[in-house]
Amino acid sequence: MADASVEGDEEVLLDYDENEDNQEPTKTEDKKATESKGHYVGIHASGFKDFCLKPELLKAVTDCGFEHPSEVQHECIPNALLGMDVICQAKSGMGKTAVFVLATLQQVDTSEAKIRVVVMCHTRELAFQIAHEYTRFCKYLESVNIGVFYGGVPIREHKALLSGDKCPHVVVGTPGRMKALAVGFRGDSPAMDLSGVKHFVLDECDKMLEQLDMRRDVQQIFMKTPHDKQVMMFSATLSTSIRPVLRKFMQDDPMEIYVDDDSKLTLHGLQQYFVKLKENEKNRKLNDLLDALEFNQVVIFVSKVARARELNKLLEECNFPSLCIYGGMKQKDRIEKFQEFKDFKKRILISTDLFGRGIDIERVNIVINYDMPDENKNIKQQGGEESKDGRSSASNQYLHRVGRAGRFGTKGLAISFVVEGNAMDEKCLSEVQERFNVEIPALPDSIDISSYMS
Ligand code: ADP
Repeated sequence: MADASVEGDEEVLLDYDENEDNQEPTKTEDKKATESKGHYVGIHASGFKDFCLKPELLKAVTDCGFEHPSEVQHECIPNALLGMDVICQAKSGMGKTAVFVLATLQQVDTSEAKIRVVVMCHTRELAFQIAHEYTRFCKYLESVNIGVFYGGVPIREHKALLSGDKCPHVVVGTPGRMKALAVGFRGDSPAMDLSGVKHFVLDECDKMLEQLDMRRDVQQIFMKTPHDKQVMMFSATLSTSIRPVLRKFMQDDPMEIYVDDDSKLTLHGLQQYFVKLKENEKNRKLNDLLDALEFNQVVIFVSKVARARELNKLLEECNFPSLCIYGGMKQKDRIEKFQEFKDFKKRILISTDLFGRGIDIERVNIVINYDMPDENKNIKQQGGEESKDGRSSASNQYLHRVGRAGRFGTKGLAISFVVEGNAMDEKCLSEVQERFNVEIPALPDSIDISSYMS
């Protein structure tokens, strides 16, 4: 829920997926990456120069080390650059972000200090990451100003950013804070003027529109933008039932790219296994795995905030370099911890589903589902509705979670703990195998390191 609480005299808008249990706890080597980007080369051996990008953008792309566009980039970028509306489904880690970042930066008009591009996503860390991606690609486009807007930051700071001649041309934000700024909050007049918007982007769009309260907020923000604009939406999962909802935001015939064969969403660089155990054997098993496996960085997913905190305490006591991030933490701590993990200062991240989608951390080569995704929780977030095409949202969530490893064609390992006799865990495991046409065997006693480390 996007409910508001008070921090000092500023309202704090919670992210939507933080609603389970938001209690704040009472207490609260740098090594060069050995993991290199996979030798993924777009099937079409074209280069970014074929897109006729502005020289400043092309130079930034080259600086980022991008040589060849991925398949989705190859298909979408030319149309997106022409201002076409786009609905794009492509598997995790294939560079969807660069599609809209490059397309909007190529087209953005910076002649006035007005907002031209709105990008929204469901979590603050993802907004932070997307804004960072804009900054990377803007390296040589000095006239473009970028702003990032999410709850937990005093709203007066955001209002100050929006006034005057430094008003950003590109705003990236989460819907709660964006709505407070663009629509107004507690009777305030709106501080964010969206009347000059030319490009409107939703990342993880199914997540943003399936959850009814979030959809309402997105719609209200959307209504503040002019009719005539480019709309682009992205996700790795776009069920048939969400597609008509997406089309309602588009003007003409959008370019639509879907992966209708779910088996094509499987990441082939990723080794996937399960471990069957009792609930009270999880900690021991996790300890053994972290001792035995070689990893650059690991993300461990748990079902609840309290479990994330407890598990982190336990791992720290065993001297593992871990940290945890969850909704309800002070915003500053949240981003600081996220940055610490990104900077490789800690190697184990424990999280709820807050980090299940979108987050891109290059060195993560192992994902552990300490708790399997919870079907009931996901249904609750969708306003009590089950997916109309019969696919469980738990299998969607599994796909997004394991996609945090094996980014852009790199190798990775996903291990899921399945509790003996837990029908929900077993259902999720079998549905994932059936839907994505992938065999997930029991974890063997030993795994060849080269199968999951580049
Ligand atoms: P998605 O949104 O599809 O899950 P991202 O946009 O987060 O994927 O991209 C995954 C990773 O791949 C990022 O680290 C990004 O910098 C990198 N990447 C994207 N496109 C390319 C490319 N053409 N060449 C090399 N790396 C790329």
